[in-house]
Amino acid sequence: MSIFKSVYRILCVVLVIAAVCGMAYKGRIKEDFENYKMHAIPALMYHSISKVPEGWTEDLCVSPEVFEEHLKYLKEKGYNVITARQAMILLKSRQNVMNTVILTFDDGYEDNYTQAFPLLKKYGFRGNFFIIGKDVGKTFNQNGTVQYMTFAQLKEMYQQGMEIGSHTMSHDPLAAIKPNFLPWEIYQPLNLFHEKMGFWIAGIAFPNGSYNETVVAEIKKYVKYEYGFSGVPGCNTLKIVNERPFEFRRAGVYDRGRGAKDIERALQKCYIFGYLEEKGIPAEILDKGLTLLNELLG
Ligand SMILES: [Zn+2]
Repeated sequence: MSIFKSVYRILCVVLVIAAVCGMAYKGRIKEDFENYKMHAIPALMYHSISKVPEGWTEDLCVSPEVFEEHLKYLKEKGYNVITARQAMILLKSRQNVMNTVILTFDDGYEDNYTQAFPLLKKYGFRGNFFIIGKDVGKTFNQNGTVQYMTFAQLKEMYQQGMEIGSHTMSHDPLAAIKPNFLPWEIYQPLNLFHEKMGFWIAGIAFPNGSYNETVVAEIKKYVKYEYGFSGVPGCNTLKIVNERPFEFRRAGVYDRGRGAKDIERALQKCYIFGYLEEKGIPAEILDKGLTLLNELLG
């Protein structure tokens, strides 16, 4: 018998034992999981709220119709949709945050203003918008037209309860750029947005989820920043707010053609990853493991 087969058999036995033990403890785990959800806030990530333009990857787009299905789902399930800053206040006050979620939008596409903003208002929700400093108000004609929101549009959204944050100046992955360019990427948006819109931003989302210790140390230099979003799936808890405010957890929502089921799955992923992280399984490792498993299983 090959080593592979032996390992496979041992794995099966371990899985069966784990399943039996799991059944016995299911009640307790379920109760523990529900308790966890009372102090954990998931964050979801969107990009463009549009039908997929030609030449774009579909993971960057959720159509307005599907996006509204997602919002309807949140409304029906009684979700409180708040901003990251509000989430920090709620978590610090140790309130029950069951069914609370943060919706984030990266890159600053104009459809965030024309589509997402009115829909969020319709349902009484708020959103976090992360803007690329050098692209504000610009139009690009690569692979179709890409239009970015203007400062006037962003200011209007801010005045109506939306939260605006930085997605750096250039959108280059922060962990890969030279350390002497970090101040421009991180500090410049603070000044630029204050100068153009009259308010200080408090949050940053890392392009492509890319960051490291040097990046976090640079952000901490500028006290205006209160939080940062990584691309690590999970939930945000008081522990994260206190110990890793620049590594907030969030997961992408993608249109896989299942309507509200797609947002339900994304929320489940956040809660499960967050729960396991609290039990000591690092979310980064879990995420890599899951990606590997998906690749192996095709
Ligand atoms: Zn981005």
